[in-house]
Amino acid sequence: MIIVLKPGWTEADIEDISRRVRELGFKTHLSRGEVRTIIGVVGDDRAKEQLLALQSLDCVESVVRILQPFKLASREAHPHDTQFKVGGASIGGKPLVVMAGPCSVESRPQLMEIAKSVKQGGAQILRGGAFKPRTSPYAFQGLEEEGLRLLKDASKATGLPVVTEVMEPDKVDVVAEHADILQIGARNVQNFSLLKRVAECGKPVLLKRGMSTSIQEWLLSAEYVLAGGNPNVILCERGIRTFETSTRYTLDLNAIPVVKKLSHLPVIVDPSHGTGLWEYVGAMAKAGLAAGADGLIIEVHNNPAEALSDGPQSLKPDKFAKLMSELRPLAEVLGRSL
Ligand code: PEP
Ligand code: MN
Repeated sequence: MIIVLKPGWTEADIEDISRRVRELGFKTHLSRGEVRTIIGVVGDDRAKEQLLALQSLDCVESVVRILQPFKLASREAHPHDTQFKVGGASIGGKPLVVMAGPCSVESRPQLMEIAKSVKQGGAQILRGGAFKPRTSPYAFQGLEEEGLRLLKDASKATGLPVVTEVMEPDKVDVVAEHADILQIGARNVQNFSLLKRVAECGKPVLLKRGMSTSIQEWLLSAEYVLAGGNPNVILCERGIRTFETSTRYTLDLNAIPVVKKLSHLPVIVDPSHGTGLWEYVGAMAKAGLAAGADGLIIEVHNNPAEALSDGPQSLKPDKFAKLMSELRPLAEVLGRSL
């Protein structure tokens, strides 16, 4: 349910309503918009009648049921776009964000060189995997804690905040100590115990769409993080499985406007995993922004031919820099900044 306040509400009104709602056993989530201020109410629907009675308060315009199964993630509960800062980078709103770096952290020289080059190319956030979800148990599994330390050092050297994947609830604390954004990978989008745990980590969460999750399931996964008390969720469309085999996955660009309509959360596009081939990354990066995405996450490697993971989809640093120079005028046409 949402409680929509009449213009002219006071802080005392919000206090009063929040107390009444809590006494009925619900949790409140305030959304202060320029046009409308809304108190989102989540909890057991059985006390719904008593909530509806709050409509009689002078400061309340209406008490309305949220129709979507996801509540806090929905635009009904939170009409204005979510925006927040990670270090110097703005997420959501007019500025676009570009996260770039290797699929896997492989060594100190590899990460340092790539981090410096993506910074020079204009990336605002460094990506790099320390814990890697690999299809084969024989494939490189990541440098784990050592990789986290290297990411922290690369962040210090470049000033770029870091996004990296966490795969297990038990590792959330150590990853949160070293990273600025915790990535939930496509394969873990419905790992509910992991979602509950990252909700408590105090850091923003990058939630990738699973290769077989519907938009509704994806937003319900975001709801786990929001309901657990963490409002800073970034959604990432990274391609879904279809019958097509020319590319690794099929980047679902439809998802961008659909999610933008249903949710206030920022959405970025991953054209690297979405295509699986570096030569298509530029086209799909541009298409993603044109579709309304708030940013991109792009894999960059200084030596893709010898990369320990995802070499075929990684841009060399010069190609990344060229792409960035093409994205800047596009951003301007789209009314965004980069
Ligand atoms: C990655 O970012 O390297 C990764 C494994 O992504 P995804 O979970 O989208 O496959
Ligand atoms: Mn990868």
